[in-house]
Amino acid sequence: NGAVRVNMSNVDSPLQIFVRAKKKINDIFVEIDDYVKDAVTFMHAVTGENGIATPQDLANVEAYVSKVQAIREVLKRDHMKVAFFGRTSNGKSTVINAMLHDKILPSGIGHTTNCFLQVEGSDNDEAFLRTDGSEEKLNVQSVSQLGHALCASRLQECSLVHVYWPRELCALLRDDVVLVDSPGVDVTPNLDEWIDKYCLDADVFVLVANAESTLMVTEKNFFHKVSTKISQPNIFILNNRWDASASEPEYLDQVRTQHANRCVDFLSRELRVCSPKEAEERIFFISAKEALLTRMREREKPVSSPILAEGHQVRYFEFVDFERKFEECISKSAVRTKFAQHSRRGKNIAAEVMAALEVVYNTATDQKAAKVEKQRVLHEQLSAIEDQLTTITRQMKDKINRMVESVEHKVSLTLSQ
Ligand code: GDP
Repeated sequence: NGAVRVNMSNVDSPLQIFVRAKKKINDIFVEIDDYVKDAVTFMHAVTGENGIATPQDLANVEAYVSKVQAIREVLKRDHMKVAFFGRTSNGKSTVINAMLHDKILPSGIGHTTNCFLQVEGSDNDEAFLRTDGSEEKLNVQSVSQLGHALCASRLQECSLVHVYWPRELCALLRDDVVLVDSPGVDVTPNLDEWIDKYCLDADVFVLVANAESTLMVTEKNFFHKVSTKISQPNIFILNNRWDASASEPEYLDQVRTQHANRCVDFLSRELRVCSPKEAEERIFFISAKEALLTRMREREKPVSSPILAEGHQVRYFEFVDFERKFEECISKSAVRTKFAQHSRRGKNIAAEVMAALEVVYNTATDQKAAKVEKQRVLHEQLSAIEDQLTTITRQMKDKINRMVESVEHKVSLTLSQ
């Protein structure tokens, strides 16, 4: 489709914490799989008539094969998930596009998404759409087509559309980040349903706020709900459209401080999800529109409106800084939430299979000991008989000797007479 491939090396990206951990845990589960299968083969060999193990022992060990298989399936699909929220037109889609270095999601007037869009990597270099619960693939070649397909399919507000985009085109997708765009928090009364359906497994939440206004009650309410359902959610706040500040440079610092204080207050004192100091590291003043433009230019994609407002480099650096902190946060959180439980489970499975093998081993050892004991008793009996024989033989010999002696004596007596 003529798209430029991203060849940049991302070995330094904090996302690698997750990527490497995922590879490692997947490799470990391959080993656990082998180990369990070996155990099953072994159990087969020792089960049956006169066997050491019972069919129940065998069945118990065999059950681990499918358990390990199920975990491996989940692990293969595990990803890092970030969900974007905010009021309509604050720039959620633009932020996502800037992070993906491409105009993937339709944005702007007339493209208000009224469903959830989940962007994830596709393995086969294909770009397509799929609605949740359906297997039908809708091929998309371009953004305008994507927007059209979304409008045409008359989606329900609370439905989820998966947008699969070639992994090789975006570093984030290649590293297993899944990005969820939401309808504006101002357009729905179903916040609870949203959270339950799409957010419970999100590693990071990004509130895309409008730097031209203050945080709205609807935006705050949404995160109040999130924090009642998820303990200590990771929340970033992007004060977007900060390019607007370029037109009023004399108020820039003042406005920024005011916004920043309110956001810190919201995260640390209202939601109590982090300390004020941590909150400061979660708040950014950016222009998603400029960041996207800069990146489109870097990739030599045709873009309009070439003139960027004063201070755009600083805003762009802040955007890059956000991405770095976000990547660190999401990868660490995902490792903890996705892998900790599985690695415990893997350890338990290995221990349980080992315990089952130990039972068999102990039975075998007991049986061997019993046989050895039997042999020992038999041996002792034989020795006793042997001893008896020796004694008897000795007594006989003595008796015969005495007889011979007495005969000899008698004979010599007779001869001498
Ligand atoms: P969404 O509804 O939250 O997904 O918002 P969109 O991403 O569709 O953006 C709505 C409009 O705001 C679009 O026309 C964008 O080009 C524009 N926009 C997004 N980010 C910025 C920004 O940082 N600065 C300016 N000036 N406009 C922006």
